[in-house]
Amino acid sequence: MCQINKRDILSLLEDCRLCPRQCGVNRLAGEKGFCGAVGEKVRVARAALHFWEEPCISGEKGSGTVFFSWCTLRCVFCQNREIRSGEAGADISIERLADIFLEQQQRGAHNLNLVTPTHYLPQIMLALGIARENGLTLPVVYNTSGYERAEVLRMLEGLVDIWLPDYKYLSEALAVDYSAAPGYPETASAALDEMVRQAGEPAFDADGMMQKGVIIRHLCLPGHLEQSRQVVAKLFARYGNSVYYSLMNQYTPPPFKLRWENLNGRFKAADYDELIDFAVGLGLENGFVQEEGTAEESFIPAFDLSGVLPEK
Ligand code: SF4
Repeated sequence: MCQINKRDILSLLEDCRLCPRQCGVNRLAGEKGFCGAVGEKVRVARAALHFWEEPCISGEKGSGTVFFSWCTLRCVFCQNREIRSGEAGADISIERLADIFLEQQQRGAHNLNLVTPTHYLPQIMLALGIARENGLTLPVVYNTSGYERAEVLRMLEGLVDIWLPDYKYLSEALAVDYSAAPGYPETASAALDEMVRQAGEPAFDADGMMQKGVIIRHLCLPGHLEQSRQVVAKLFARYGNSVYYSLMNQYTPPPFKLRWENLNGRFKAADYDELIDFAVGLGLENGFVQEEGTAEESFIPAFDLSGVLPEK
């Protein structure tokens, strides 16, 4: 069945409009769009168990993360620059990607966690089809910046169980300034609506591991407490406690000086406490917060091709 649909699905790369950039380039003919991904192969930088996601995703056995290279955003404070630039990673076939998914299951992962998958959606759909036919039963996590086209996400109906999107900005000016992402606030909002529609009510297994649902992440940016407050208020007004929220204070400045002075520091602990109090005051119950001291580079895994190439 996958074979029959392969050409149709891959033809999406011939006039690529997978993300809101809508570059219209022919990636199969070697043309590069904003993200930089090119050709039919998939560039992957790491496939390994990861223990630093939310507790209902990482659990005790770890989340089966697959880190895709390239990105549809250009965040000035990006912590994964080697993969965003495509510098880290190896180009693999769709069949190898399907094997990687199965290997994560064999490692005992709680789920298959696709990190920054947007620009490889056709190849991922095909690889999931192959892996499912060969015994993949793990819940699939779609771990995204939130800069997604809702109409494209509709193609994933029935393939994704857990949505793990960011909601980064409510301010258009900040979205453009910090991530070169015009339209982010509205586009990501529409994408969230689609994810919530597809996921339905959250569900967990007996060990408290999420089996389906939505966890919306918001990374608190230094100097932007007010925006974080507005983000939480907006999201809670729309979704209430039907989704989960992850308020992240792990912002780490890049190892070079940015022209935005605030982004060279960290999000203040007092501001974080204030934000949590604000969220609790709204009635938000389904939330994840981070302990003090979690803003460490050690949370960034090594993009060293672990688990990417077949064992010899
Ligand atoms: S996925 Fe890449 S090439 Fe396609 S529209 Fe987005 S940025 Fe452009």
